[in-house]
Amino acid sequence: MTLFAKIIAGEFPADKVHEDEQCIAIRDINPQAPVHILVIPKKPLVNVASAAAEDEKLLGHLMLTAKALAISEGIAETGYRLVLNVGRHGGQSVDHLHVHLLGGRAMGWPPG
Ligand code: AMP
Repeated sequence: MTLFAKIIAGEFPADKVHEDEQCIAIRDINPQAPVHILVIPKKPLVNVASAAAEDEKLLGHLMLTAKALAISEGIAETGYRLVLNVGRHGGQSVDHLHVHLLGGRAMGWPPG
């Protein structure tokens, strides 16, 4: 069971900012920007690489949830970044799919 599965099950504490039937959103414990939220599907997909055609609507729901949170966090006007790290070279450290919502400061490019 991954850390995020434990958080979804209520077995591990987190600063939850959103929950619906398909996902939760929590504040990242090690924020890389003034706003750093993780949108996490309740379905235990490892990452986008393990998603299938049947997950198309769920992936869209994660994006729209991130967009709604950007509005409620007050960063929609200035802009923000959505990140999905996949695998070792992608920098993924928790093997449960999650969308990073980062904002509240200007982002650099290219990413590290
Ligand atoms: P990634 O490296 O893309 O797999 O992202 C995993 C993220 O989970 C990192 O940004 C971590 O800071 C974050 N994280 C790890 N443990 C926790 C936790 N207990 N609560 C909230 N965020 C966490």
